[in-house]
Formats: sequence, structure tokens, C-alpha cells
Amino acid sequence: MWQYQLVLAVLATLMAATTAGLIRWAATARTTLRAGTVLFLLLMMVAMVAGALLYFLRPGPASLLDGFWLASALMSASVLIIFASFLREVRHQEGGAPPPPTGPSLAFVGAVLLLVLLNEFLMGWTFSLAAGSLSPSVSGGIPGLFPAVVSSPWFLFTMSGEMLLTTYLLRDRLPAPVVVVLALQSVIMFLSPPALAAGWWNSLAIYAGSSLMIGLFVYLMEFIYRHRQLTGAFSTYLVRLLAIYGAMMMGLFLWLTYGAVLLFAASVVVEMVIFFEAVLRSGPFSAGPSAPWQLRPNWAFALLAGIFVSEVFMGALLNLQIDPTDYAGVYFTLPLSGVPVGVAAYNAIYNGFWFLAGTTGSTWFLAMMGVEMGALVAFKFRETPQLETRIRLALMMGCYAGFAVFFPSIYYSAAFPNAPPQATVPFLGWSMGIGTEALAAGVVGVVLITYAITGVLSTLFGRRVICSVFCTAPLMYQGTAIDSMKTFNRSSPLARKYLSSRFSALYSVTTGLVLGSLAVASAASVLDSAGVWNVTVLGSDPTVFLFALYFGVLWYVMFVTIPYFGNYNCVTMGWCYTGTIAQAFQRVGFFKLKVHDRQVCRDCTTLDCAKACPVGLVDMPGHFRQTGEFRSTKCCGVGDCVGVCPYNNLYIADVRHWVRDRLGLPKRPSPVKHLPMVRTPSAGGVGPVGGSVVAPRTTYPAQR
Ligand code: SF4
Ligand code: SF4
Repeated sequence: MWQYQLVLAVLATLMAATTAGLIRWAATARTTLRAGTVLFLLLMMVAMVAGALLYFLRPGPASLLDGFWLASALMSASVLIIFASFLREVRHQEGGAPPPPTGPSLAFVGAVLLLVLLNEFLMGWTFSLAAGSLSPSVSGGIPGLFPAVVSSPWFLFTMSGEMLLTTYLLRDRLPAPVVVVLALQSVIMFLSPPALAAGWWNSLAIYAGSSLMIGLFVYLMEFIYRHRQLTGAFSTYLVRLLAIYGAMMMGLFLWLTYGAVLLFAASVVVEMVIFFEAVLRSGPFSAGPSAPWQLRPNWAFALLAGIFVSEVFMGALLNLQIDPTDYAGVYFTLPLSGVPVGVAAYNAIYNGFWFLAGTTGSTWFLAMMGVEMGALVAFKFRETPQLETRIRLALMMGCYAGFAVFFPSIYYSAAFPNAPPQATVPFLGWSMGIGTEALAAGVVGVVLITYAITGVLSTLFGRRVICSVFCTAPLMYQGTAIDSMKTFNRSSPLARKYLSSRFSALYSVTTGLVLGSLAVASAASVLDSAGVWNVTVLGSDPTVFLFALYFGVLWYVMFVTIPYFGNYNCVTMGWCYTGTIAQAFQRVGFFKLKVHDRQVCRDCTTLDCAKACPVGLVDMPGHFRQTGEFRSTKCCGVGDCVGVCPYNNLYIADVRHWVRDRLGLPKRPSPVKHLPMVRTPSAGGVGPVGGSVVAPRTTYPAQR
């Protein structure tokens, strides 16, 4: 039997190689005759496979003859294409036809795509029948046949081989980053879990495919960080691909949970279409017009949303695959049919909310995000010269690994194997204890201790202890690509309302609502734990619900909408209760930004510190010029401003400097670089930062 399978595999490989060669021909076809030849050969392949299919659907001498006749008829018809192309070519050479197009026409690309898809589908169907993995009388008609064929190894493996070979053959016509994306895409297609009905393959494909997809996301993020100008063709291709990956991961989740493979199969076919359309019309990738993506918030949003949706379903898939005991049957538990409309609506909200919150708070989602976003932070680490910022970045990565992944998941399940799910002890970190468990008497004490520790640390070193180290958010905000999206803080009409250190009315309302909701939820949770008032929200303790709402749902919604709300919007808009509480301690603490020499800031025209600030504190240069220091409770101590000051004039001061001053220890030599100042014709203006948000220089003490 294995010899038979081997023969089929060799045949499939030959067909994949032939198709790839024909696609290369199609991509480089510049004459009508050549284009017609490609179509003729593709149609010949379709004819051969269709004939074979007819035989395998009803094996026997009669169907063999039918198959032969069908193939012959289709092949004869395909000769017409060659004939018509030949005539057109002759007319062209005699000057009677319009000049040949400079690239493949839309009609030609469409025809090639259709024939390649048809060929692949018929081949997948025929080979599955020949191998005995598909019954000739597959149930469900076309809706049943389509996913069965597309998710078969004969379709998926052949297609991925074809894609990889096509990428290789056309590598000289495509820019290097496009080749990388297409090659990774081909291998990810090969690692399709439904391709083989074997446990070892399913596991291998889920782990390796997910890892490779994460690798692709990291590559893309780093690429857009380093290349702020993208051609229209490449940027469009990327958002299309990511949208398809979102659908594909959703399809894989449905396949693993319910055995439904239709969405996965549909996304595979759509991915094939965009892949082959891209390689056939590759010209615009290198020659098309390019534009800065930072001026295209909708594009950046589509990119982030595509990646996020893929990751959510990938996280759920990994949870089910790695930890089926805890996760099987926990998603979408309430019925949507057979219940009144109102109940169905509630159930849909319940299911959707807990799917999202449960997944984003789960071990493997957080581990996966840690790898992806941690890689971007590692890239940032490499290009960060300041030792202090490097130490903070290293601490931030360590805290993420410890407080988001190791302690809540690995440590507790190892140390307390019999503890019920979610029964974790509150700890210092993102949740600050609130939301991991109902506020029962024993838990309240631990939460208060947690806040006391946070308060002391924030007073001594600033809110950066939480917002730039302990919290999981900064790891996601501060990687290279996401950090570069801080330009949206100044360009988005909505985000601009939150610029500068002042508290706008909108900010005050937001923080008031957030702290109010925390107070109400905490009181309700305490009363519920004491048995005084039985209250739950969406089936959960109020504080557990509140934590899930803010950090499992809202945080990610706000993350993918950075192009509209700006980077670090939990800080700029004040919608995080943890950050708001930490900022209250910063108000009375030692943390502030100081400059060595005020005059340098007065002469400075770059205002780089303000431009680099990820929370949009664009008014800092004005304060430096006036008082030599800047204290804002919104500042979360990232230190980007310190790193970019071209004159090395800025530093972060906290309790260590206060102690040094009190002890009268000698000051370190000033590191200020007295470089020639950059002068601009409008040197008295506001500079390039934030329009009217940066106060004009003339409002500060006279220069020199
Ligand atoms: S404001 Fe909240 S979510 Fe944002 S970084 Fe600080 S603690 Fe994290
Ligand atoms: S970039 Fe440096 S010199 Fe210029 S205003 Fe900022 S801290 Fe002062």
C-alpha cells in the first residue's frame, strides 16, 4: 500500500512543480502566444485530472472510457486557446492588434488563478479518492465535499509545495521582504493541522505552525519599524494576509472544538488566491508608489487587528491542545438556539466576553504574546544606549515572564495541583491582587499589602515600578514597532485631546468612572463574600468581572485601536485603575525629570524629548526651560526622552538622587554635550512637535 501512496506523492510533486513552472511563465509572459500557451497547458492539466477523477468516482472499464473521452474533449477544446493566441500574435506582428500589455492583464491573471484552483481542487479530490482517504459518495454535497478536499493532504501539501517553489522561481522578480513573507506563508500552509488525521501531526502542526506564524508577525512588525515607507502593493498584501490568518486561526479553533473545517478550508482557498495574484502581478511590489504607514491609521489598525484576532484564536487553540483537561468545554458554553431571544442575546454576550477575557488571560496566550512582544522589546534593548533604561527593559521582560506566565500558571499549578481553577493568591503585578479572586476577608489583607508595597515603591521610584516594569502592558507597548506608533498620539484627532501633562475634563471623567467602578465592585465583592449581598456580574464575582473587563477585553480593544487612541492610552486616557492609583503615589514621591543645564533646553530647537515621549507629554521642554525639571503624574518613566536628547541634558531623578543630595555626596560630572544648536528659520516658534500644544518659547524666561 505504501508503494501506491509513494507513486501518488511523486505524481503530486511533479504536478506541483509543473504548476509552479507554469505560474512563473505566466508571471513573465509578455506575448499573447506565451500567455495562451500557459492557459493551454493549465487546461491540459485540468483535463487530465478531470478524466482521472471520473474514473476514481466509479472505478471500472466504463468510467475509464468516460474519463478518457472527457480528457480528450477538454484537451481538444484547449487547443482553441493556442490557435486564438497564435492568430492574435500574427495580427500583432503585422501591426493589426493592440500592443501587448506591459504586465499580465486582469483577465489573464483571473484565468490562470481559476485554472490553478480548479486543477488543485480536482487533484486533491482525485488523489484522495485514489488513496482511499475519501469516499466517492462523500456526504453533504458541495458543502461537504469542499472542506473534505481542501483539508486533505493532497491539496494542502501539494499547494504549499507549489507556493514555495513559485516563490523560489520568482525570487529575482520580488523584493526580499516579499520573498520572506511568501516563503513563510508556504511553510505555514504546509503545517496545517487538519491535513493528517494523526495525533502526532496535529500537535506538531499546531505548535510549529503557531511558532512560525508568530515568527512572521515579529518579522513584519520589525520590518515596518525599520521601513516607515511601504509600497501600496505590499501594505495591502500584508493586511489581506493578516485578515486571512485571523479567519484561518478561527477556522482551526472551530475544527479542534467542533470538528468543523469549512472556515479553515475557505481561508486556505482565499489565501491561495491572494498569493498567486501577488506573484502573477509582482511589479507593484517593487515599482509601485510608497507612502509612510504612520500617516495611515486605518492601515495600522487593520494590521494590529489582523494580528490580534489571529493570536486570540491561536491562544485558544494552544490552550485546548496543551491543556485539554482545563480548557475542553469551557468556551461558548451557553446555548444560542432553543432559548428566547433575550436569553440568546445574553448568552452570546456571555460566551463572547468570557471567550475573549478567558483567552487573553490564559497561560499560553500570554506566553505567546510574551515571546512575540518580548522579541520586539529585545530589538529595542539592542539599540538602547542608556544602562538605566536597559536595566528597566530587562526587568520588564523578567517581570512579564514571572508575573504573567510563571507564577499564575506554572508555579501555582505545580505547587497547588488540587487548587480549583482561578484560585490563585493575589500578587504584585498587573492585577494588583484585585480580580484574581473574590475579595474575601483573607484576600483583602493581601490586596492591601500589595497596594502598600506598590505605594512605597511608586513613592520612591515613581509609577514606572508598575507602568514600566511590573505590568504586562509595557512589554506590549515598548517593543520597536508598537513604540513607533506613538506618532499617532500627536496625529490622531482623538489622541491629541490627551496630550500634555494636564488633566483634561475628559481625563478626569474617565478616571472618576474607573475608580468609581472599582470601589463599587470591591464593596459588592466584599459583601458577597461575607454573605450579606449575593451579587454576580456575567456569572462572576464583581471584581473578577471588572478585572476581566478592563484587562482581558478593554485593554486589547484599546491596544488594537492605538492608531486612533494613541500608544499607552491606559495612561494618557486614565482608564486603568492600577495606573491611576500608582500615579497618586507619584504625586507625592521623589520621581521627576531633571535637566543638567536649563540654558541648553532654552537653546534647543529639536525638542526630541517631547517627540519621543510615548505618553505624549509634549509640554516637558517648556518646564525644563523654566524650572529645569518636570514632574507629571502621567509620566511612567520609560526614559525614551532621556535617550533621545541630543545634548545628553536630561536624567531621571528619584529617591537615589535625593539621598545623594542629602548626604552631600559629590555630584557626577555633567555629561552634557555642548553641540552646535540646530537653528531653524522659525527658531522662536513651537518646533515640529505638537502644534499649539507645546508652549511657544516666548512664554518662558528670555534666552541667554
Ligand atoms: S496604566 Fe495600567 S495598564 Fe497601563 S501600564 Fe500602568 S498599570 Fe499597566
Ligand atoms: S531634547 Fe534635550 S535639550 Fe532639547 S528640550 Fe528636550 S531635554 Fe532639553
